[in-house]
Amino acid sequence: MDKDLRIQKLEKELEESHKKREKLEKQNSSYEKSHAQLKEENYQLKGLIYSSTALITFLKGPEYRVEFANNPIIKAWGKGDDVIGQPLFDVVPEVRDQGIEEYLNQVYYKGEPYHAKTLPVEHDINGEMVKSYFDFSYMPQYNLDGQIVGVGVIAQDVTKQALLNQKIKKSEKEFRGLVDFMPHKISIADADGNTLFYNKSWLDYTGMSMTEFLESHWTEIIHPDHIEKVEKERKHSLKSGKTLDLELKMKDKNGDYKWHLHRSIAMKDDGIITSWVSSSTEIQKLKEEEQRKQDFLKLVSHELKTPVTSIKGYVQLLQTMINGENDKSKQPYLHRIEDQVERLIKLISEILDLSRIEQSELELNIEEFSLNKHVENIIEDISYSHKDVQIELEHLCECDVKADKDRIGQVIINFITNALKYSPDSKNVQVKVFHEEENNVAVSVKDFGIGIEKKDINRIFNRFYRASSMNEKTYSGFGIGLYLSNEIIERHNGKIFVDSEPGAGSEFTFILPLNQN
Ligand code: ADP
Repeated sequence: MDKDLRIQKLEKELEESHKKREKLEKQNSSYEKSHAQLKEENYQLKGLIYSSTALITFLKGPEYRVEFANNPIIKAWGKGDDVIGQPLFDVVPEVRDQGIEEYLNQVYYKGEPYHAKTLPVEHDINGEMVKSYFDFSYMPQYNLDGQIVGVGVIAQDVTKQALLNQKIKKSEKEFRGLVDFMPHKISIADADGNTLFYNKSWLDYTGMSMTEFLESHWTEIIHPDHIEKVEKERKHSLKSGKTLDLELKMKDKNGDYKWHLHRSIAMKDDGIITSWVSSSTEIQKLKEEEQRKQDFLKLVSHELKTPVTSIKGYVQLLQTMINGENDKSKQPYLHRIEDQVERLIKLISEILDLSRIEQSELELNIEEFSLNKHVENIIEDISYSHKDVQIELEHLCECDVKADKDRIGQVIINFITNALKYSPDSKNVQVKVFHEEENNVAVSVKDFGIGIEKKDINRIFNRFYRASSMNEKTYSGFGIGLYLSNEIIERHNGKIFVDSEPGAGSEFTFILPLNQN
């Protein structure tokens, strides 16, 4: 029994020692595993540090010995590969007095990390001091007992960016200098039209400081008569991105309003408005000059009108007298005199109308009349004095209009006489009265003459504009008639336009709205 018990005990002890061995073996294998894992992780970490484009080094002890350093930092030091184990200031003594030692001491002795942006550092590369810029992080490194054993350095070479920024800053400074030097008033606004900058000319003109001017509302310096117009056009430009072009009066530091030519252009990036650049040029002297010219023209035309009208009267008297005589040989001369006097009267009236429009003095005498009858009478008159022409009239509607009869007549005469003048090889003109839409009436005048080139089409309604072909010299005229016609029709809230083909002819049309007061 004793023997059995002993055997049993021994067997148990054997089993336990077996288990212990198994456990130890397991432990041993897990140590081996984690050791291998640790080794692999270390390898990967080193790989990461060595392949990084950042400049990385670990400086050990108070001498800051280079424990390890990756290629980018070795290259930046420019002292060859043999740097491991050497004190930093033996490798790059030139950086010691550039503040680097101070930063390292702060980290090593006080445990405070140090970060810097775009720090300039000069390295001695083959005897030449080369300046580079770095973003730096110096961090204390600890051992397992929590004691600082060195400093870890991670840096990024930002030289290219720093130099670019310096260039941008320099050119920005030069740009501001240039903008301030200019006599024009220049301002820059954001995409919503809020001004961010006024140049010196603006500040000198208004007598305000930059802050005062930026805090004021733009309407404060605009003449009250112009605010509505500016507001409307400004809104339109901000919405559409179209260039803003206007003439307006703006208040100076003495409270006097002076005429300016203002222009704002949208700056775009990929089609999206990023800002607005504006320039305002003072045109007060030009405006005064123009006014004097206008006044003079008005005066001269007034003075000329009376004698020329009386010449016409005498010519007509002479014509009646000669009509009664047998000898008709003088008649053609009198006709010629009458033609020339007519031209003179037309020009004088146009100049007078022009100055009336410019000074907003053109008044409309509104009355109700039959447009069809009016067109018919005008054609009869013109056909009477132009025997060789054929003017066809087509009434597609019968229409009474409320308008200034003489002024509308003036537009029709201008259309027809132009149609005849600019058609050297065809004397056929077609006139139509029709509804362009139900609530309006239109008159069109079609000719088969020289036509108008595309580039001129939108400009012939401008003051003094004449189509710039060689025909300009062939056909007499002053480029005033269509400008006046356009103004007259616009004042009737109507529309005027032309359809033309060079060499094939033109069709001028005006449309008047019906049923309006
Ligand atoms: P003017 O005929 O006195 O020059 P207008 O203002 O009446 O002035 O016309 C302006 C310009 O438009 C003309 O110089 C001419 O170039 C062009 N134009 C007007 N009517 C016609 C037309 N029927 N055919 C061709 N060109 C025309």
